[in-house]
Amino acid sequence: MRPAGGADLPSPGRRYGAALTTPRIVALPGDGIGPEVTAAALEVLARLGEFEVEAHAIGGASIDEHGTALTDETLDACRTADAVLLGAVGGPKWESTDPEAPRPEQGLLGLRKGLELFANLRPVRPSPALLGASPLRRERIEGTDLMVVRELTGGIYFGERGRTAGGSAFDTCAYSVPEIERIAEVAFRSARRRVTSVDKANVLETSRLWRETVERFAGDRRRAARGEGADPREDDVELEHMLVDNAAMQLISRPRDFDVLLTENMFGDILSDEAAMLTGSIGMLPSASLGAPEAPGLFEPVHGSAPDIAGTGAANPLATIGSVAMMLRYGLGRESEGAGIESAVDRALEAGLRTADLGGAATTESATNAVLANL
Ligand code: NAD
Repeated sequence: MRPAGGADLPSPGRRYGAALTTPRIVALPGDGIGPEVTAAALEVLARLGEFEVEAHAIGGASIDEHGTALTDETLDACRTADAVLLGAVGGPKWESTDPEAPRPEQGLLGLRKGLELFANLRPVRPSPALLGASPLRRERIEGTDLMVVRELTGGIYFGERGRTAGGSAFDTCAYSVPEIERIAEVAFRSARRRVTSVDKANVLETSRLWRETVERFAGDRRRAARGEGADPREDDVELEHMLVDNAAMQLISRPRDFDVLLTENMFGDILSDEAAMLTGSIGMLPSASLGAPEAPGLFEPVHGSAPDIAGTGAANPLATIGSVAMMLRYGLGRESEGAGIESAVDRALEAGLRTADLGGAATTESATNAVLANL
């Protein structure tokens, strides 16, 4: 469970420190199991108090309704919300080889771009009751509680690309100092003891700039924490650097030694999926994407719309319920309520809750009720 540091950590949400008014949440249920798991998570949220929830279509549902995966109206509603909760988008109905046809994922990309969500946070904390579900041995993963902080809007995924007349292809990786500093800040605020900054500084120039900038950021932060009137706890977070190939290995061999892994877009994409497997099921993994301090965060399960089980009532709602916990913590500055949801999920799992993806027979509804009963 994180962060141990308390309510001052890290909440770029616009309602941070001002939890007195009714928060306004935009819910984007999306497609497939999206609406099922979103409804379950909102039921848990409603149990905690008053929230104004406004639902909008996104992805395939929005294509059916409006001809586009994300309307300007929906994006505007998200921009002015305190936080956005998303289910999942996509499905066979909207798959097409026509490059002109609207695609559900455009909704997600439009949202990330429109809200300038540059930081993706994925906590990896295998529930004690599910240690047997991981592909790794119990003694390897026991005690793991780490977070991957991935830069989401820069690097090679957004650089110039193309084909040359000679038939070769290229993708460009670029990072600026401010881009690195702002993601480093999110990582340090999320850390309790150590930030492991992952790069490929022995080969890549962008990685050398990354390493230099993170090092300088950490030094400035340490000096500021020693200054008059500063918070000395900010001085406690160590920084280490690790090459990405080594990090991929260490993540499997000693996951519990990590606290926060800070990395650029493509390395983070790969490492966060590797780390996710430590927990066993994709139905368990929440995520948060954060932007500027005054902008709302986007909270969503890591899984997709699972068209193969949509409508059967078998979807595991725990990843989306976990995303609501992250929303409370990182988006609304309500750390203890977020932690309360996570404890309720742990207790329900300890009491034997298992949906089909975990080898059990619990339905979305009974799983939600089991969490509510432990809240
Ligand atoms: P998926 O995550 O939807 O499903 C993969 C497998 O995991 C399926 O067998 C599914 O039944 C199972 N699964 C996923 N979530 C589950 C849950 N909560 N409970 C129980 N089982 C669960 O990935 P996919 O099959 O590759 O993609 C299906 C659709 O989802 C595609 O259209 C894809 O583009 C889209 N997708 C969307 C997102 C998103 O919205 N963020 C992410 C990934 C995939």
